[in-house]
Amino acid sequence: MPEIKVTPLGAGQDVGRSCILVSIAGKNVMLDCGMHMGYNDDRRFPDFSYITQNGRLTDFLDCVIISHFHLDHCGALPYFSEMVGYDGPIYMTHPTKAICPILLEDYRKITVDKKGETNFFTSQMIKDCMKKVVAVHLHQTIQVDDELEIKAYYAGHVLGAAMFQIKVGSESVVYTGDYNMTPDRHLGAAWIDKCRPDLLISESTYATTIRDSKRCRERDFLKKVHESVERGGKVLIPVFALGRVVFATPGMLHAGQSLQIFRKWAGNEKNMVIMPGYCVQGTVGHKILSGQRKLEMEGRQILEVKMQVEYMSFSAHADAKGIMQLIRQAEPRSVLLVHGEAKKMEFLKQKIEQEFHVNCYMPANGETTTLFTSPNIPVDISLGLLKRESAIGNTPVNNDFPLSGTAILSFRLVSPEQALKELGLGEHQLRFTCRVHIQDPRKEHEMVLRVYNHLKGVLKDYSVQHLPDGSIMVESILIQATAQSEDQGTKVLLVSWTYQDEELGSYLTSLLKKGLPQTTA
Ligand SMILES: [Zn+2]
Repeated sequence: MPEIKVTPLGAGQDVGRSCILVSIAGKNVMLDCGMHMGYNDDRRFPDFSYITQNGRLTDFLDCVIISHFHLDHCGALPYFSEMVGYDGPIYMTHPTKAICPILLEDYRKITVDKKGETNFFTSQMIKDCMKKVVAVHLHQTIQVDDELEIKAYYAGHVLGAAMFQIKVGSESVVYTGDYNMTPDRHLGAAWIDKCRPDLLISESTYATTIRDSKRCRERDFLKKVHESVERGGKVLIPVFALGRVVFATPGMLHAGQSLQIFRKWAGNEKNMVIMPGYCVQGTVGHKILSGQRKLEMEGRQILEVKMQVEYMSFSAHADAKGIMQLIRQAEPRSVLLVHGEAKKMEFLKQKIEQEFHVNCYMPANGETTTLFTSPNIPVDISLGLLKRESAIGNTPVNNDFPLSGTAILSFRLVSPEQALKELGLGEHQLRFTCRVHIQDPRKEHEMVLRVYNHLKGVLKDYSVQHLPDGSIMVESILIQATAQSEDQGTKVLLVSWTYQDEELGSYLTSLLKKGLPQTTA
């Protein structure tokens, strides 16, 4: 039975370090290659040793796809291609290709130049890595090889962000990356056609959130800013740098300018920090949002947070309503959640299974989900039958409803080779074997030579060959001597043929059964 396998190397029941391995109809694709904001050690990159234990990565992976330029989706890419050693193609949209190296260089500078880390990718490695990138347009079908094709759809998350459809024959998977289903002042809403993939792999950052309208949020936001400024305070808004609004970055207060300002202003209760989006565990942003007011900073210094901490989601991720909306749009046969917290995923998983009657999976990192697919057989249904069935009262559930009628099959004649190819089957050969006893006291190889000379003389129009292993080939018919006979004076010949050569095979057997002509040695 055909199957699709999915293994998250990162972003399995977690936010950050997105990296998902998909095997579909014998093709292996890696989706995203991100870093984790919450870690500074080995855990910041996905564990690529999961991909293959033996052999080169490039031989195993057919391609890598990057959904957008955020570092939790592409931050490990130069490490993967230049240090782990992946040489194959990398696909991303044109804007992602333009912005990705800028963010990677920024990340390298902070890690190497500021924090003084060694054993990290270099500027040259970022350049070499980007040379392996193939840029794609939205809605352009890219043929990775004869069988594997990919297509990008607008994701509305940041500039250049795309959802990708991966297709082999009639099997397909859609990977959303990060997406947003509500348009804002910069970007439109994500869109995909009713492509009915076998599997939809969706982010689930805001699996349990339903956001109010954008207008209300903007009004609330301004009110909070005014209040703080009126009582003489300052307002810090850490933001997600590129492709969104510019205040101070980064958005999760884990390093850089926003963190510096936060340290300066945190002690004054008149000030306010407004967190505009999701913060990964381990970051300062996550700590203050979960109520921590005493933070241990570098050098064991304790920072007391007296300023007001507010949260207002201006995030570019789909909320629960948006995720359900995308599922309704694409009509997948099953759903797999990544890029979210386990508890929240569990809630959304139940909601999806109830509403859409499809299986929903949420594997942890390193855990493989296998789903079996049933190949599609498209059938044209007559309008008359459809009308009659719906009049009986059958109502479609999730576009499925039982229908009975008579299937009329039309036949097509193709070559056996083509039929095997279309059905994905290997060829088995059935051979028929006959035993022929030859009265000959001489040594085996001498007897075979006699048989060869005899056949060569009789079958002038056929190709008769004496092979180096001692056997004889007449066209495709094989004649071999066996030493099985107990009687020294009798030798046994095995004559074997496939069903296509039945006629020649039987003729040869009867010819040999008549015995060999007497010759002088
Ligand atoms: Zn993102």
